[in-house]
Parts: sequence; structure tokens; C-alpha cells
Amino acid sequence: DIMRTITVLGATGSIGQNTIDVISRHPDKFRVFAITGHANLKALVQLAMQCSPRYIVLSDPNTYTTFISLLKAENCHSEVLVGAKALEDVCSAPEVDTVMSAIVGAAGLLPTLAAVRAGKRVLLANKESLVMSGELFMNAVREYKAELLPIDSEHNAIFQCLPHDFEYGNLDKSGIAKILLTGSGGPFRTLPSESFDSITPDQACAHPTWTMGRKISVDSASMMNKGLEFIEAKWLFGLHENDIEVVLHPQSTIHSMVQYTDGSVIAQLGNPDMRTPIAYGLSFPERINSGVDAVDFSSLCDFSFSKPDEARYPNLYLAIEACKQGQAATTAINAANEVAVDAFLKGQIKFTDIAKVNQQALQKTDLIELTSIVQVLEHDEEARSLARELVRKLN
Ligand code: NDP
Ligand code: MG
Repeated sequence: DIMRTITVLGATGSIGQNTIDVISRHPDKFRVFAITGHANLKALVQLAMQCSPRYIVLSDPNTYTTFISLLKAENCHSEVLVGAKALEDVCSAPEVDTVMSAIVGAAGLLPTLAAVRAGKRVLLANKESLVMSGELFMNAVREYKAELLPIDSEHNAIFQCLPHDFEYGNLDKSGIAKILLTGSGGPFRTLPSESFDSITPDQACAHPTWTMGRKISVDSASMMNKGLEFIEAKWLFGLHENDIEVVLHPQSTIHSMVQYTDGSVIAQLGNPDMRTPIAYGLSFPERINSGVDAVDFSSLCDFSFSKPDEARYPNLYLAIEACKQGQAATTAINAANEVAVDAFLKGQIKFTDIAKVNQQALQKTDLIELTSIVQVLEHDEEARSLARELVRKLN
């Protein structure tokens, strides 16, 4: 049995805490090298006590003094590092073999790339980094021989349903008809559309089947999450937009499917709990206990499927449109959406304004070619300022 040494980026978040939960069940298989956190310092102290990492990284250097005083009260021997460079260092350190990428948003890009460039096993939860950098990210995976394992439940499901020898970014489609990307439709699937204007942040964050961080919860409610996942699937597997179909499945038991040319459809099922894909990523190709209950087929009463309505979910279709336009468009819509969701969570704009900001940002974006990560970051920043201006006008 090999012992895996792991860095968990964004350990204080929903994915991060689930990762530590799975790791803690297998002290014989995993040890934690580093954990990182941003604002939730109490949770970071708790996690450090739970998994005794060698390093704790504070992504925001301003929190150092407060954090140290919190940590002093505990008997903790981890070393504390701060800042962007430290985030990258704990990903590329030679002792590390696996990096969980679970920071939310564009802030996850550079540390995740550092892990890729160091040729690590990269467990990718942070879909935004791939949506932003697309082909450049996948080229780096190939060049540095990183082992990429998708943690997003849909992409993890697709990974499990594909032939074992498939090639990232270059899937052999001769036997494959389609990728069926499932989504629950979020909390507003049946809400009358007249009520959409008055949706509050708490309502948007109350997902019917999954428990997640606030940004991705809002994205799930608007189905921008499925749009980002559409783009993520395109880059991960090297697909054309016509190869991917989004299917609504409110029960969230089927996590995605692959349809083959002979008519077979292979699906991956499980209870909606991220510890299943996390455990699979951590132990691949073995299977380990994740703490998730088995699906109870005697109590599941029905499975339903439908096509997502365009008027109800404009963000989904905007993202698919951006996907067709290419890298500059997907980088821009991702950046605009982060700004818009943040403004919505702060009560500055309405739920329905998110799609307006995204649509206008997309319209105003120059469809230039992005050939380096520096260019991606510049383009991201441009789209952000455009979106911030749109938010100000709407506010
Ligand atoms: P959370 O909001 O719960 O956690 C986000 C993490 O990122 C926290 O550790 C947070 O630190 C940290 N963070 C926030 N801002 C920054 C920053 N500027 N710099 C560095 N770190 C930062 O999100 P989730 O765990 O829900 O999601 C994480 C990622 O995984 C997202 O990209 C999401 O799309 C993806 N994902 C999540 C799923 C889920 O079920 N939750 C499912 C599939 C994908 P702190 O809390 O200390 O401020
Ligand atoms: Mg998902």
C-alpha cells in the first residue's frame, strides 16, 4: 500500500472539509502536507487540529496575526505560511503527490497550475480555473504529465463511464454518441417565473439535493453551474458542443452518462454527497470507504428527466454560446459571473440581473486569441471591470 501525501487548497470550504473527512477515515493511506484557508480562520484551526498538517497557508496575509493568536491557544505544531507564492509552493513541493484544488473561483487558477506543472495528481474541483484557461490548462497537463482527476460529480461520473484508456482532451469518439450531463435544475425549477425577481440569496443557496459553498449554490440555482460544467467537459475530454447534452434530473442520483453508438447508455449513480467523487479521486484506481450511504433503491420512488427551459435558465444557454465562441468568451463569462454572483450575495443586484451582467459582458468582450496564462489573467481582469460597471448601473 502506498501512502499518499496531500495538499488541500481551500480546506475550509465545503469540498475541502469533505476531503479532510474522507482522508481522516484512512490514516493508513493518506497524510496531509498542507491545508489552505482564506477568511474562515476558526475552521482552519479546527482542521489543523484534526489532520496535523506540516504547513498551514493563509492566502490572505492580513489574517496572520489574528490566526497566530487563535492557533496559540491550541497545541499545534504546523508551520504557518502566507500569500500567493506559499500557495503555489505547497502544491509543487517534492514531498507532495496529490493536490486537491478546492479554492472557489479564479483565485484557484495559479496554485492549481503550479500543481499541474509539478506533475502532481491533481484532483480538480475548482472548475473555474479550467473554464478560464481551457486549452492552455490541458496542454500543461499533457506537457508536465500531471494526472488529472475530475472531482466535479458530473465529470467524475463521465470519467467512470468512459473506456479506461481514454485520452484527455482527445477522446476517441468513434464509439461514443454523446455525453449526457445531468443537473437537478436547482431550487427554482418549478418556481413561477414572475417570482424570479424577488429571489433572496438564502433562497438561492438552499439547494434541494446538494450542500455546497454559496457561490456554486447560486450558480446551481441559475444553472450557470451547468454552463460552466459544459465548458469544463468540453476542455477535459476534447468535445465539440454538439457532443454534449444537458439533461434535467431533479433527483440527483444519476451524476452523468455516456451514450455509445450502439445505443448503450452507461450511467454512474450515487447519493448526492461529494465524498464519493473525492474518495475516488484520492484512491484511484482503488475504491475506498467514503462514509457515504449506499443508494436505497427500495425507497427511490421515481427518476425523471427533461430538457432545461431556455427562458428559465438563460445563464446555461449563455455559457453554451460562450463555449462556441471560444476561450476569450468563456474566460469573460466566468469572470463576469463571479462579479455578478458576489454582487447578488451582497444584495446589490437581483437574481435576474446575474444573467443580464453575463450577457452584456459577453457581448462587449473582444474575441481575441489567448495564448498565455498572463493573457488569460488580463482578459479575466478586463471582463471583471466591465461587469463591475454593469453592476453599478443596475444597483
Ligand atoms: P466554499 O465557498 O465552501 O469554499 C471555498 C474555499 O476557497 C474556502 O476554503 C475559502 O476559504 C477559499 N477561498 C475563498 N476565496 C479565496 C481566495 N481569494 N484565495 C484563496 N482561497 C479562497 O466552496 P466549495 O467548497 O463549495 O467549492 C470549491 C470549488 O469546488 C469551487 O470551484 C466549486 O465550483 C467546486 N465544486 C464544488 C462542489 C460542492 O459540492 N461544493 C461540487 C463541484 C465543484 P475561507 O472559507 O477560509 O474563506
Ligand atoms: Mg457538478
